[in-house]
Amino acid sequence: MASPSHVAASAKSASIQSRPACPLFNGLRRSSFEQCTFSFADLQKIVAPRSSKGVVSMEGTGKFFVGGNWKCNGTKDSIAKLVGDLNASKLEDGVEIIVAPPFLYISQVKDSLTAPIQISAQNSWVGKGGAFTGEISAEQLKDIGCNWVILGHSERRHIIGETNEFTGKKAAYALEQNLKVIACVGEKLEEREAGKTFDVCYEQLKAFADEVSSWDNIVIAYEPVWAIGTGKVATPQQAQEVHAAIREWMAKNVSPEAAKKVRIIYGGSVNGKNCAELAKQEDIDGFLVGGASLKGAEFATICNSVTAKKP
Ligand code: PEP
Repeated sequence: MASPSHVAASAKSASIQSRPACPLFNGLRRSSFEQCTFSFADLQKIVAPRSSKGVVSMEGTGKFFVGGNWKCNGTKDSIAKLVGDLNASKLEDGVEIIVAPPFLYISQVKDSLTAPIQISAQNSWVGKGGAFTGEISAEQLKDIGCNWVILGHSERRHIIGETNEFTGKKAAYALEQNLKVIACVGEKLEEREAGKTFDVCYEQLKAFADEVSSWDNIVIAYEPVWAIGTGKVATPQQAQEVHAAIREWMAKNVSPEAAKKVRIIYGGSVNGKNCAELAKQEDIDGFLVGGASLKGAEFATICNSVTAKKP
């Protein structure tokens, strides 16, 4: 029997083919969506042409992007082994790759990585450094050669208690200091079940948009909280529909150009087996990977899923 999401997805395709209307999503439509005057067909015109990058079915311009978030894991020895495995792996061209070690090990990783992989931090302070015990400033990250930072990760939002507003301010400050930002958004399970997925993501996006002056150096990571570290990966269709909605939100609330350019990556239980099917989705421009990024060979497989996008 067809699942409700398949039925809804078919309804969505039928609707798109037959008339220019607001997009239908898998039971996740936000309450105010009926008032939408912006059609999915309009959005497709904005983001076309789709194959100009020599890559099929990738909406964000620029390279496929894969990040490895090592979280609070590792020792000097285990990180030396992981870096050795990454250095030994064969990585496809056409992928921008970052790894985010714990702060303590950033210099070790930077000094020992020979693979074409950049370094990211997992967090940064909201402003200039000073009397902020335990924090690391954007200036300090730049000083040690770290060019990226992950902000708004669900573990910071829901375990540490960082708000949308605070996260937006952090992003603005990091960008001002010339760090590039992986801006995470995503709904909790109860929010998805209550039909609030889009509203939650849009509120989190708005908090970034309220503070940042440009999205040029931002990669958006859609990470449903229920999929992070649980082994319950979103289906390619579930991920694609939220990615498409995020791109539409960007077109309407930031600019069509920013919507076309921004890379939107998926995170939540991505592994070497499920990455290729996810990568085939047109609005999935890469991945943010937790657990599987701690295994060099598997992380390389995920980076190499860019081949699923190639003609
Ligand atoms: C993450 O924490 O960003 C993440 C995606 O974790 P995992 O891949 O382990 O679900």
